[in-house]
Amino acid sequence: MRKGTIVENLNAVRERIVACCNACGRDPAAVTLLAVSKTRPAEDLRAAYGAGQRHFGENYLQEALEKREQLADLDICWHFIGPLQSNKTRAAAEGFHWVHGVDRLKIAQRLSAQRPRQMPPLNICLQVNIDREQSKSGVAPEEVESLATAVARLPNIALRGLMAIPAPGETAEAQRWPFVQMAELLQRLRRCLPDQPLDTLSMGMSGDMEAAIESGATIVRIGTDIFGARG
Ligand SMILES: *Cc1c(COP(=O)(O)O)cnc(C)c1O
Repeated sequence: MRKGTIVENLNAVRERIVACCNACGRDPAAVTLLAVSKTRPAEDLRAAYGAGQRHFGENYLQEALEKREQLADLDICWHFIGPLQSNKTRAAAEGFHWVHGVDRLKIAQRLSAQRPRQMPPLNICLQVNIDREQSKSGVAPEEVESLATAVARLPNIALRGLMAIPAPGETAEAQRWPFVQMAELLQRLRRCLPDQPLDTLSMGMSGDMEAAIESGATIVRIGTDIFGARG
């Protein structure tokens, strides 16, 4: 657990991103920091926003919608990163800019149908069960292509890329392995769907952020290292 203030922690994470990008020859501007603010009060998001943070990730719809209301004066880009049941898709389609973690066509169809017409297409990432853990959500790697092809036909969806939550790896090398698989999957998807804006690999959390960046992550989802350990 980090003991600094939110702003100090945020700046430390930013420095780690820059250092990691410099070490592996990537442009730090190509990595978006998504601050995962689940269970945190609205004031914590406001503090991070005051230090320039714009992307926030939430896992629980009701909680997120309450914070949206409390922070309606801020220009936040809201990402839904939790599991999404089909009876909750309308709130996600109406209240968020991004939904990570889509792993069924039915969910994508509902999000597309429920996306308000005056809003831009909803950005989505398909969640991949990259290390084939049982009981974990996410589409199997060999099924990504057919799901992506069907999702790409939906009118109010922008298919941006892939997302994963691999099991924690012990070593940097063990952490990189699933992330490298993800990068290869995205490359393959780009070749079969050249018309889609497939520019996103949403991967890397507090414990494996560097391994994800080294493997090509474009969005890292960081909670603990910014806001402290969750209770
Ligand atoms: C909670 C969560 C995170 C952040 O994890 P930390 O280890 O706290 O950085 C990232 N992604 C998802 C999907 C999460 O649920």
